[in-house]
Amino acid sequence: MRVLLVEDDLLIGRGVADALGDDGYAVDWVRDGAAALAHLAATAYDLAILDLGLPGKDGLTVLREARASQQTVPVLVLTARDAPADRVRGLDAGADDYLVKPFDLDELGARIRALLRRRVGRRDPLYRHRGVTLDPGTHEVTCAGQPVHLQQREFFLLLALLERPGAVLSREQIRDKLYGWGDSVESNTIEVYVHALRKKLGADFIRTVRGVGYCATPAS
Ligand code: CA
Repeated sequence: MRVLLVEDDLLIGRGVADALGDDGYAVDWVRDGAAALAHLAATAYDLAILDLGLPGKDGLTVLREARASQQTVPVLVLTARDAPADRVRGLDAGADDYLVKPFDLDELGARIRALLRRRVGRRDPLYRHRGVTLDPGTHEVTCAGQPVHLQQREFFLLLALLERPGAVLSREQIRDKLYGWGDSVESNTIEVYVHALRKKLGADFIRTVRGVGYCATPAS
């Protein structure tokens, strides 16, 4: 899952970027509004975390301009405790949720998972497909009732495929979801993760669509 973090406070930004990175998210961190808009236009993010008090172009302006240019990415706004009017304006400008500073990183994680769920129209927090279950909260995966251990990127690849079983993701889309801009990516790495998942979940769990990419094999 690729997340854009827009935060000019170095301490908060570093804390959030590290915490999300530890959870396996691919995080791009920018510190001002102009950079935020440029990144939103260039990359298909799964989620954006947007501080409202930014130098130059403030967060509300960023949000309005992003929505005006048809950006549908879920946006979680970060606001200061003493500014309830900001929260109202943020939601009215197109934010999907907000968190008041100082916030708890566990709560941030839970809100992110809820937004990611909603963005694909899900209510059930558990993903279930062809005998495999995946819990985004605990990162637990089972196959035929047995726990399966996945590396973080294997886990997020599986999550991406299970969001829409049968929908094909290109290698480029997968790479964008698994890696931030600073990560180096070997050319065959997606294939390596697919191979690992097939080994752990069954050879036919993931279908290769030649010349296009991969999908979770639809339930028959
Ligand atoms: Ca700020």
